Amino acid sequence: MKPIECELEPEVLAAVLQSCWPGRVDAPLRAHVAACAICSDVVAIAGVFDDARGEMRARTVVPDSGRVWWLAQLRARREAGEAAGRPITAAQVIAFACAVGLLGACFGATSAWFQSALRWIASTVSGFDAKALLPSATALLAEHGALVLATAAVLFLVPTAVYLALGRD
Ligand SMILES: [Zn+2]
Repeated sequence: MKPIECELEPEVLAAVLQSCWPGRVDAPLRAHVAACAICSDVVAIAGVFDDARGEMRARTVVPDSGRVWWLAQLRARREAGEAAGRPITAAQVIAFACAVGLLGACFGATSAWFQSALRWIASTVSGFDAKALLPSATALLAEHGALVLATAAVLFLVPTAVYLALGRD
């Protein structure tokens, strides 16, 4: 039966993989490989693999390190920008929702005033009376002054807050 193992096989394999074969190995080992079928197979196969590895390494094109660094910087900057943009967008959405809610609440609170103002305008137009105009306007302002001030404040403050939030990015 043909032997399947040889005690010198690891030594021969190491010599081939370290590119010592056949120039830098001992003469007895060379003589053994010439006589041993297993070791001559190892030399043939390992030599082919080693050549293929060398060819592959020669064909590999490694990009310039400066370019790799530059692309990594660009990518890091873009990712940082995206990460920083996310909370700003969330803050804008929350600010917009707050503004809409506040405006709705203010309109609901002032709708009675709004309707009475409409009625006052209608009565003024139908029966215009210059003497009655000033006292009724003053009375209206005194009655709903706080609401008018609050509405005006909301109308000026909310756009300002949204503008500041948008202007930060
Ligand atoms: Zn052998």
